[in-house]
Amino acid sequence: MFERALAPGSIGALRLPNRIVMGSMHLGIEHDAERLAAFYAERARGGAGLIVTGGSSVNRAGAGGRNYSFVNEPRSATALAHAASAVHAEGGRIALQLFHAGRYALSSSFGLRPVAPSAIASRFVPDPPHALLEYEIAQTIRDFASGALRARELGFDGVEVMGSEGYLINQFLSPVTNRREDDWGRDLPGRMRFAREVLRAIRSSAGRDFPVIFRISGIDLMPNSTTPAETCVFAKALASDGVDALNVGIGWHESSIPTVQHLVPSGIWVPYASAVKSAVGDLPVIASNRINSLQGAEEVLAAGSVDFISMARPFLADSRIVAKAARGEANLVDTCIACNQACIDLSLLDVPVSCMVNPRACREREFPEDTNATGTPRRFAVIGAGPAGMESARALAVLGHRVELFEAQDEIGGQFRMARRIPGKRDFGETIRYFTNELARLGVVSRLNAPVADATSLRDFDGVVLATGVLPRRATLEGHDLPHVVSYADVLRNGGVVGERVAIVGAGGIGVDVAHYLSFGEANVDETTRFLFEQGLAAPANGAILIAARKQVALMCRGSTIGQGIGKTTRWAVVRALRAAGVETLPNITYERIVPGGIEVRTAAGDVRKVEADTVVIAAGQECNDVLLEPLRRLGLPFRVVGGAKDASELNAVRAFEEGLRAAHELVREASSSS
Ligand code: SF4
Repeated sequence: MFERALAPGSIGALRLPNRIVMGSMHLGIEHDAERLAAFYAERARGGAGLIVTGGSSVNRAGAGGRNYSFVNEPRSATALAHAASAVHAEGGRIALQLFHAGRYALSSSFGLRPVAPSAIASRFVPDPPHALLEYEIAQTIRDFASGALRARELGFDGVEVMGSEGYLINQFLSPVTNRREDDWGRDLPGRMRFAREVLRAIRSSAGRDFPVIFRISGIDLMPNSTTPAETCVFAKALASDGVDALNVGIGWHESSIPTVQHLVPSGIWVPYASAVKSAVGDLPVIASNRINSLQGAEEVLAAGSVDFISMARPFLADSRIVAKAARGEANLVDTCIACNQACIDLSLLDVPVSCMVNPRACREREFPEDTNATGTPRRFAVIGAGPAGMESARALAVLGHRVELFEAQDEIGGQFRMARRIPGKRDFGETIRYFTNELARLGVVSRLNAPVADATSLRDFDGVVLATGVLPRRATLEGHDLPHVVSYADVLRNGGVVGERVAIVGAGGIGVDVAHYLSFGEANVDETTRFLFEQGLAAPANGAILIAARKQVALMCRGSTIGQGIGKTTRWAVVRALRAAGVETLPNITYERIVPGGIEVRTAAGDVRKVEADTVVIAAGQECNDVLLEPLRRLGLPFRVVGGAKDASELNAVRAFEEGLRAAHELVREASSSS
């Protein structure tokens, strides 16, 4: 098992114990030396073959945000050096990513204007960039070179040059963003020149023996951008200039094709890395994007077309993903479910990231779990086994306490049990698999089909976590008791027993999920072929794709935004998928009444319209399921209320997991201080 993934390999002079690279992620904690070091050290301990840091900007104009580190500035030196030495102390290896965002830069944070090869603004950052002058290009190249030397001096084992995802180097390569008529543009050799000069300058500053990985774009997913043939020419040019490995990224941030969202099938981008490998022969090539398991990595490596696999978010979700696989414990890996809600979405807000399913990520010092300082084992009850309850039970058990987890249903998982039915959200079931196995390993007693009706039955515990989640909000709309009206939970739990025409009341995250579930249908091809076809990237081999069992869906809301509350990186992709599936979206309406055969609504223009429907699905919010709250207060035990039981105003699994973790640590501290 995992023979290829766990086989040693080399990138230049650097020997790696396995083929798994932890990909670069901006964390937003780059100026907190202790926190950053703890994060990377835990991933080194967890078996990452090589860690690539989040981008460290080579100058202020290239910053992706206020929280970026600046490799060439003394203020970043302490944190970077500390991170490198913490990784080395764990026996790991770490490369610094040299970064310049170009026209994607949020350099206005520093009173600067973004720069780019040409003065063409992006959809992603509307500030118009300044077209770099010749002397400014030369200075930027020197900034990359000094950054590489600085990385070496700070103790890093190598550097990765960020040249993909639409950042500065990628902007020079692409005819979309490089309209220069001088020697830094005009034709392919001119467009490649900036990248090649950067590489040569790094080589001469940091030394031939200092490993350099170049992250290139396997495909930009932008109209009229660099062609596949040009990408291969570029890869060969870097190979001839002496690069030690190519890491192949996919897509620009402003591309209209999703690349890392849950809708994107796992492993779909590997062929683009394989094409680069075919061009460069023996040079190590790293495949990136949407590979989220060691099993997936092993399959890709076994096919033999790339040499390493880069996984980024999976190391947020589980720092020990490699070590667990090596120990034969892949069933205990907490899988990244590509939700983006606590990582990329927060990164775009320029605040520290974490992980929905692993809220300890980037908070390792706040929630230590590798100490044994828990004192006398206590008995805790956790009521409810949704996200908040599962995490509380796990954390309490890891901290050395005896835990009983009470769940009214016949399975743990809460809302994740419904989410896993949604197209692309199958991996939400992996979270349930992880907690099922991990809680059993930790000795948590899971009592299923065991609702707690009487709080006094808990009196022998030392503390309680109330995590009973939410109930669908009771509908009050006229006609809500008609036979064709159901709740979203009825649809998703019962496998979608609805008519052919469906109207959905409420277009928040759950309403959108229901619409996606009902409109997706069944295709006569596998999900990868379907995705490539639907995104216009490839046609199926045997003619058209047939999709059956697709419902006719109308999705309605009072507000102006379909998918309100869904994260920035995901909402647009899901709404686009719904429209492609023929879902009618009706924002800005007022509900009048539900009537036989449909629902009457008033449009923004004031007209009353009947939306024809065999089934009306109510997805108009939730209410706290907190009936045990007052009885618990009266009981007088230490307790915490978490997740939906605490606040149902918007279903937020990121908050639920985090509150579950925090409650566990608080209760343990409280118990210790009272002993
Ligand atoms: Fe993966 Fe979601 Fe965690 Fe990000 S927040 S690492 S996408 S599970």
